[in-house]
Amino acid sequence: MHQKVMLLLAESLANTPLQKPSLISAQYETFTSSEGLFFFDKLYKIMNTPYDILIIGAGPIGLACGIEAQKAGLSYSIIEKGCLVNSIYNYPKNMQFFSTSERLEIGGVPFITHTDKPTRSEALTYYRRLAAAWGLDLKLYEAVESLKKEGEYFSVNTSKGAYLAKNIVIATGFYDIPNLMGIPGENLPKVKHYYDEAHPYAFQKVLVVGAANSAVDAALEAYRKAHASVTMVIRENEIAKNVKYWVKPDIENRIKEGSIPAYFHSHLVAIREKEVDIQTPEGLVTIENDFVLAMTGYQPNFKLLQMLDIVLSEDAMRTPSYDPETQESNTQGVYLAGVVCGGMVTNKWFIENSIIHSKKIIHHIVGKKSKQKVS
Ligand SMILES: Cc1cc2nc3c(=O)[nH]c(=O)nc-3n(C[C@H](O)[C@H](O)[C@H](O)COP(=O)(O)OP(=O)(O)OC[C@H]3O[C@@H](n4cnc5c(N)ncnc54)[C@H](O)[C@@H]3O)c2cc1C
Repeated sequence: MHQKVMLLLAESLANTPLQKPSLISAQYETFTSSEGLFFFDKLYKIMNTPYDILIIGAGPIGLACGIEAQKAGLSYSIIEKGCLVNSIYNYPKNMQFFSTSERLEIGGVPFITHTDKPTRSEALTYYRRLAAAWGLDLKLYEAVESLKKEGEYFSVNTSKGAYLAKNIVIATGFYDIPNLMGIPGENLPKVKHYYDEAHPYAFQKVLVVGAANSAVDAALEAYRKAHASVTMVIRENEIAKNVKYWVKPDIENRIKEGSIPAYFHSHLVAIREKEVDIQTPEGLVTIENDFVLAMTGYQPNFKLLQMLDIVLSEDAMRTPSYDPETQESNTQGVYLAGVVCGGMVTNKWFIENSIIHSKKIIHHIVGKKSKQKVS
């Protein structure tokens, strides 16, 4: 093959997922001409060049890390198992952020919304615009399946390929793994851990488990928009304190007036096709039921953290170990960004207060790089 063609091929492949090394070696061995060998060698080297950073997760914080890496001239890619900002895409269709839009802005791109607080749909438009404006290097619909440190680099295996990186940023959020109740009937199709919209619950008997924002939003929307008969089961003796201040009186008043009955200090103990059992302070109560919305929260993918030997606290919080100055975990070269930093405490970090992680991480990586150059 002509030299120029080979060079073009090598350069265009430089941005595609690294082939499995064994595949490359097999091709390498069958490539015999000296001209071909020279250019294949170049191709092999380009394809094996480790990224400065691989960012796992294209949520708002993964995107912020990509922008900072790009500003600093580092080679990077953002690997995302679903679509762009996959978690937000899966939020309830009519959700409204509690933050005002300017507090969610990233990379100097203005976030213009109809009212002060963005809707999910406005947020999705914003993140698409942001990724396009910065021309971010994204690998979407590609799940990271395993990672490990091999010598001085990290090898990352995904559903579509394999990569090498000098540094890893884990920005995988918390929205993929629901906290299960561990009760009989939880796996029935009528039990949902994600609330999407009110319509499917029209004129149905719906039990909402939980008392935080997601539970309250789902209960109010199903009651008001779908004319559902909504009942709530709440472990504590009140609606969670951090429920949005403009929503909290609404739910409290609906409970007080009996439009949405609630069992406090209670928990769900069994689910059957047509009814559920609730353990209340007054004893076991059985009520008719069509759907259970188990808004019991979510947890980060701890297995991914453990693959990289990240230490988790031994208490129920399972807080990952990292330096808050740099976001570097106890495994050198692995950084934590965004909501994943909180372990089981998934409301400690959110978009607003964790955008700053991206700057700290890239600042530290750039610092390490310049030290290596000097020595
Ligand atoms: C209903 C609701 C309303 C909220 N409102 C606000 C608000 O008003 N203001 C605010 O600041 N915060 C708000 N939050 C919180 C905020 O959305 C999260 O804190 C934020 O999404 C965290 O961003 P992140 O980038 O850390 O994680 P995420 O947005 O969860 O992104 C993580 C990404 O990683 C991907 N991923 C996971 N595992 C893998 C893998 N193995 N391989 C590849 N990709 C993977 C996921 O698909 C996902 O896209 C709200 C949350 C909810 C649920």
